[in-house]
Amino acid sequence: MAEVQLRNISKRWGDFVGVANFDLTIPDREFLVLLGPSGCGKTTTMRMIAGLEDATEGDILVDGKRVNGLEPKDRDVAMVFQSYALYPNMNVYENIRFPLKVRRIPEAEHDERVRRASAMVELDDFLHRRPAELSGGQRQRVALARAIVRQPNVFLMDEPLSNLDAKLRVSTRAQIKNLSHELQVTTIYVTHDQIEAMTLADRVVVMNKGVVQQVGTPTDIYDRPANAFVAGFIGSPAMNLIEGTLSGGVFSAKNIQVAGLTGPDGPVTLGFRAEDAQPAGEGEVSAPVYSLELLGDATMVTVKAGGALVSVKAPKDFRAEIGDPFAASVPAGICHLFDATSGERI
Ligand code: ATP
Repeated sequence: MAEVQLRNISKRWGDFVGVANFDLTIPDREFLVLLGPSGCGKTTTMRMIAGLEDATEGDILVDGKRVNGLEPKDRDVAMVFQSYALYPNMNVYENIRFPLKVRRIPEAEHDERVRRASAMVELDDFLHRRPAELSGGQRQRVALARAIVRQPNVFLMDEPLSNLDAKLRVSTRAQIKNLSHELQVTTIYVTHDQIEAMTLADRVVVMNKGVVQQVGTPTDIYDRPANAFVAGFIGSPAMNLIEGTLSGGVFSAKNIQVAGLTGPDGPVTLGFRAEDAQPAGEGEVSAPVYSLELLGDATMVTVKAGGALVSVKAPKDFRAEIGDPFAASVPAGICHLFDATSGERI
C-alpha cells in the first residue's frame, strides 16, 4: 500500500524554476504518467520523489509520512532508469539479487525472490548470462526485475523504453502494462512519448516549462484538452490549431470558416483533430492539397488554412495530386476553441 502526496513542491536552482508548485495526490496502485517535452521538469519531479534531489519547497509524503530529507535507500521506492545501469561483471541472477544484499534481506529468501522476479519478466533462461551477452530489451527486463525483486511500495520509471528500437518498445510497453496490473504497485512513469502515456496511464500529468498543464485520464486529456499546449501535444498527429477570429459564433481565417460555435467575439485559436474531419465535396475547409501521406489504413491530407498546416484523415483509397482543390467538413461539434492569448480552453 502506498499513496504518494506531492504538496506544492517546487525546485529552483538560483532564479531558474525547474518545477513550480506541483500539487497532486497519487492514490495507492495508480499508474501515473508524467508527460511533457524535453526540459519540462518530469525527471526533476521524479528525482525529488526518489530523494535524489531536494525539493526547494513543499512536502513529499508516502503513506502520510513526510519523506523529505530521507536518503533514497530509506524510501520505499525502486527506480528504473533509461540507462539500465547493470553491473557488467555480474550475471543476470546476481544483478537481480543485488538490491536484496544491499538491503540485508535474509539470504534464505534470495533465491525464491530472484526466481519469481525473473519469471515475471521472462528471463528464467538467461540467469547465467552477463549483461554484454543480452539484447537491449533483455537488459531492460533485468533492470525491471531488479526493481521488482525489492517489492517496493512505489515504482519510479524514467523513460525505461527510450533506448529500445520502435518494435521492441511496443512489446516491452505491453509487458510493463501487464506487469503493473499483476504487481498492483503505485507507479510513476516519466516519458515524452504521448503514445506511451496514453497506453499505460490511469492518469496523465501533462507538464510544460515546470508547470502542470493538466491532470486527467487519457480520455479526458484527449477529448477535452485544458489548453492549446495540451491540444498540440496529445494525439498522433496532434490537434490542428488555427489562429483566426470569432464573430457571432463564426470562426474565420484564410481557407476556413466554421459556423455555430460558442464564444466571445475576437481573436481565438480553433482546434480539431484530423480523424474528426472528413473530406467532402464542399466544406468548412477549402484549400489546395499541400501534401498527401499514405499511412496504410488511411491517407493523411494536409492543406494550409489560416497560416497553419492542417491535416485531415481520409480513407485509404483517397487519391489526389499536390495542388488539387480539396475540401473537408469540419462541423462546429468537433471543434475546440482556445483563448488566443492565454491558450486556455474557452
Ligand atoms: P528530458 O525529457 O530532456 O529528460 P525533463 O522534463 O525530464 O527533460 P528535467 O531533467 O526535469 O527535464 O529538467 C527540467 C529543467 O531543469 C531543464 O530546463 C533543466 O535544464 C533544468 N535542470 C535540471 N537539473 C539542473 C541543475 N542541476 N541545475 C540547473 N538546472 C537544472
